[in-house]
Amino acid sequence: TPAEVIRNFCIIAHIDHGKSTLADRMLQITGVVEQRQMRAQYLDRMDIERERGITIKSQAVRMPWDVGTTAHVLNMIDTPGHVDFTYEVSRSLAACEGAVLLVDAAQGIEAQTLANLYLAMENDLTIIPVLNKIDLPAAQPEKYAEELAGLIGCEPEDVMRVSGKTGEGVEELLDRIVAEVPAPVGEAAAPARAMIFDSVYDTYRGVVTYVRVVDGSLSPREKISMMSTKATHELLEIGVISPEPVPSQGLGVGEVGYLITGVKDVRQSRVGDTVTGAGRMAEQALGGYKDPRPMVFSGLYPIDGSDYPILRDALDKLKLNDAALVYEPETSAALGFGFRVGFLGMLHLEIVRERLEREFDLDLISTLPNVVYQVQLDDGTEVEVTNPSEFPGGKVASITEPVVRATILAPSEFIGSIMELCQSRRGTLKGMDYLSPERVEMRYTLPLAEIVFDFFDALKSRTKGYASLDYENDGEQVADLVKVDILLQGDTVDAFSSIVHRDKAYAYGVMMAGKLKDLIPRQQFEVPIQAAIGSRVIARETIRAIRKDVLAKCYGGDISRKRKLLEKQKEGKKRMKMVGSVEVPQEAFIAALSQD
Ligand code: GDP
Ligand code: MG
Repeated sequence: TPAEVIRNFCIIAHIDHGKSTLADRMLQITGVVEQRQMRAQYLDRMDIERERGITIKSQAVRMPWDVGTTAHVLNMIDTPGHVDFTYEVSRSLAACEGAVLLVDAAQGIEAQTLANLYLAMENDLTIIPVLNKIDLPAAQPEKYAEELAGLIGCEPEDVMRVSGKTGEGVEELLDRIVAEVPAPVGEAAAPARAMIFDSVYDTYRGVVTYVRVVDGSLSPREKISMMSTKATHELLEIGVISPEPVPSQGLGVGEVGYLITGVKDVRQSRVGDTVTGAGRMAEQALGGYKDPRPMVFSGLYPIDGSDYPILRDALDKLKLNDAALVYEPETSAALGFGFRVGFLGMLHLEIVRERLEREFDLDLISTLPNVVYQVQLDDGTEVEVTNPSEFPGGKVASITEPVVRATILAPSEFIGSIMELCQSRRGTLKGMDYLSPERVEMRYTLPLAEIVFDFFDALKSRTKGYASLDYENDGEQVADLVKVDILLQGDTVDAFSSIVHRDKAYAYGVMMAGKLKDLIPRQQFEVPIQAAIGSRVIARETIRAIRKDVLAKCYGGDISRKRKLLEKQKEGKKRMKMVGSVEVPQEAFIAALSQD
C-alpha cells in the first residue's frame, strides 16, 4: 500500500469516555466487522478486559475508507487508558500521526484527557478534538466544546460531536481523519526500521508482535533482528489485523501490522524496541525503548502450601505475556513458600492476581503491597528494599522513596477537601489552574506510597465521585521512614512488617495489633502482641490465656461425637501456622492482610 493513502491514528480519552465503543462503530461503519459478528468492545479480547469493561492491551486494526474516489487505509490503534499502562499508550502514540481526543460530552475534560493530550503533543500528533456521547440527555456539548477548544487552542466549531453508541457523526469523523491526519513519511529504500508497540503471547502461535514500519519494508521468511538485544529471528508470518490476522506479502513504509517469529516469550520482543532486517541492519534504533520498571511489590503465597509448584508455573506462563511482571522466590516464616512479585501499579497487581486465581485455579494470600525504597547505610553502601522484612537492621543514614507528579481535576467547590487530603498524604501543592470558573486543575507532588493504594478511593469519596486523577513518576525523595515490626510473644511476624512514615508508625502499629488481637484465638498462655520500631515498642495488646478443651462441651456420653470433634480439631491444626510458640490460624493472616 502506498504511504500517501495511509492514515495512522489512535483514540485517546479518559477512562470510560467511550474509546472502545467508538472503535466498535468505526469497525462496523467501515465494514471490517459484519453486523452479525458485532459485539460490544470488540477489541477488548481478554476475558478480564470484557468483564471489567477496560482495555488492557493496545489493539491495531486496519480499515478501508473511501473519500470520493480514493481508497484509503486507516490504521486505528485502541489504547489502554489506565495509568499503570501509560508506557504502552505512549508507544501506541508514537506509531501514529494523528489522535482523536475523545471527551465525554456529559463529563468534560478529566485528568487522563490532559495526560493523554500532553503525550500526543509530545509525539507531534495532529489532534482532532471530539465530544462523544452526544446522545445522552445530560450532554452539554456547547459548554464542553468551549472547554476543549480552550485547552487545545482551536475554535469551538472545530470540535466534532459524535455518539459512539448511535454512530452519529462517525462517518464525518472518518472523513476528517483522512483530511487532517498527515500520511506517514519514511524512506522506502532505507534499511528496515519498525517500532514494536505491542507484543502478546498466543498459546498456538507464540509471540505475536505488533509493529509500525517507519522505513524500508519487511517480508515473510526474511531474517530480522531486534535492535536492543541483537537477537535474530526468522519472520514466519507477517500481516495485518482486519479485524482478525490476515497474512500479507510484507509491510512497507507507514504500515501497521503483526509479525510472528516463533519466539515464546514477550521479553524477546519488547514494546518500544526496533525491528530491523538482519541482512541490512539500520544504524540507529527508533527512540523510546524502555525497560518496564515495577513500582509496587507484594508477596504472593498459595494458601495451600502444596500449590507452590503450580504458582511457580503459573507465573512463568503469565510472564510470557507480560514483560513488566517480575518475581523471585521468597519464604516467610508466617506464610511459607511464595514469591515476591513486582507490578507496574495496583491495577496490574489486581489483574495478575485475578488471572492467577482464575486461569490456574489458585487460592492466594498477598502481603501488604509496598513501593521500592533505597536505603543508604552509614558505610556508604546502598540497598534496594522491595520487601520490608529485608530492611537492613544496621546503621541507616537515609532512605529515599519514589514520588509522583499528580494532576487532579475537580469541581472548584472541592478544593478545600482535596488540599486537606493531599496534605494528610504528605503532598506538596505545585500549582493550580482554573479550566473554567467551576472546574480546577491541581498539581501536586506526592509520595508514590501515599497515592498508590487507596488515595483514589479517598479522593472520590471526598468529591462525590467528581474528581479525576493522573500521575507520573517524578524521581525520588529522602523521607523520614521507619520499619514497623509486629511481634507475637516477642517473635516478629515477617508478613506484617511495613515501612511507613514516622508520623504514621503509631497508627499502623495500633491498627495491626488491634486486628490481630481480634483474629488470633486464645492460647493456653498469655500472648503479647507488640508493634515496634527496632527495639522500641510503640503499641501493645494482649491475648489472654484460656484452657481450651473442646471435649468439655460434650458432657461425657456420645463417643462418636467426641471423636468427630477431635478430628475436626486436628483438621484445624493443619491450617495453623506457628509463630514462635503461638498457633495462628491461617485465616487470621488472610483477614489481617485483607485491606478494608
Ligand atoms: P473506554 O474506557 O474509553 O474504552 O470506554 P467504553 O467504550 O468502554 O465506554 C464506557 C461506557 O460508556 C460504556 O458503558 C459505554 O456503553 C458507554 N458509552 C460509550 N460511548 C457512548 C455513547 O456515545 N453514548 C452513550 N450513551 N454511552 C456511551
Ligand atoms: Mg476501552
